[in-house]
Amino acid sequence: MNDECTLREKARQAISGGRLPTRKPDRTLGGLGSGSTCAVCGELLTLTQVELEIEFNRHGSTPGLDTYHLHPRRFTIWDLVRHTLHARAPSA
Ligand SMILES: [Zn+2]
Repeated sequence: MNDECTLREKARQAISGGRLPTRKPDRTLGGLGSGSTCAVCGELLTLTQVELEIEFNRHGSTPGLDTYHLHPRRFTIWDLVRHTLHARAPSA
């Protein structure tokens, strides 16, 4: 089984399902797990694991901050997938 392929598929699904944006995060923070679930694989980020927190400034009618938690390796894959998507649909 190709783990890399499975994770890319999960990242693609997270994007198409609206669970993750496709743009560059406004802020990326690293730290120990906060007990939330990973936005890509859906697994728990336990307190002993390293996690990445990515933040997006939200403008418009309800300005604020959208925050997502990810495993560092899932973040790398999401970053790769979103670049692939942008390359495929440059006008989007
Ligand atoms: Zn994960």
